[in-house]
Amino acid sequence: MRRREFLGSLVAAVACAAAGDAFAEERARQIAFTFDDPKTDSGPGLTWQQVNDNLLAALDKANVKAALFVTGMRVDSEDGRKLVAKWNDAGHLIGSHSYSHLFFDSKKVTLAGFEADLLKNEPLVERYSQFQKLFRFPFFKEGNTKEKRDGMRAFLKEHGYRIGRATVDASDWAIDGRMRKRYEKDAKADLRPYRDFYLQHIWDRAQYYDSLAQRVLGRSPAHTVLLHHSPMNAMFLPDLIAQFKGKGWEPVDAAKAFADPVYDRQPDILPCGESLIWALAKETGKFDAELRYPGEDDVYENPKMDALGL
Ligand SMILES: [Zn+2]
Repeated sequence: MRRREFLGSLVAAVACAAAGDAFAEERARQIAFTFDDPKTDSGPGLTWQQVNDNLLAALDKANVKAALFVTGMRVDSEDGRKLVAKWNDAGHLIGSHSYSHLFFDSKKVTLAGFEADLLKNEPLVERYSQFQKLFRFPFFKEGNTKEKRDGMRAFLKEHGYRIGRATVDASDWAIDGRMRKRYEKDAKADLRPYRDFYLQHIWDRAQYYDSLAQRVLGRSPAHTVLLHHSPMNAMFLPDLIAQFKGKGWEPVDAAKAFADPVYDRQPDILPCGESLIWALAKETGKFDAELRYPGEDDVYENPKMDALGL
């Protein structure tokens, strides 16, 4: 190789490496949206059909496919089947969230009873073409004894299920509950302060779990945020998506996020559960000073909402 050619390719290689680094630095965080507990309840000024349609319209506008985790008892009706069918027909992933939404860590819930409750949900979700064997534990509780945790893991494997975990856990349901109460008292109440709190809360949690992921995994995975099929999300999901985009996060399909092998990690902790990132951080033993339990709950958000008069 002549000297000039050699220098030319060297310069190109260095430029490429620099561009590669810059690309890695600037690569957008990815976020997929997952919705639990679809139900045929009405909300502040919205019928369940409007709640459903608004959510689907917001996802369609953002051109992303979400995951819907179905709890059988909430949709075990003609209306309920119509509700889930709309998500299926729009190409969203359908997962299982059990039939009865049992608290697995409760002493009253046995391993056998919990397994039976998952199987009871199958006829309700298997009918949909977009159904995938992804199981989301109610309350993100995966077992507080070795027998329960490992028993359920073996059961899921035997039945071909993966665990439908989320990296970004949150308490949107608690804010939704407060907003509904306010609306019931005063149908003309200004609901924007609830929107602002919700947007701030989800952004805060996304940043936290992303920071924790980078410290635990050394990288930022394709995130999944836990949200609920609720009037709050029906009203403000477009704002939430716009907020993520505005902060440089890229909305992605839930199936793309769940393709990341990190979702198949089986953290060796007891009690097991919470956000996937929380559980992986706990397993290292290095983050005990900063990990609260449970990872997310209304007890953390209620004082903040009280202070704001929400
Ligand atoms: Zn749930």
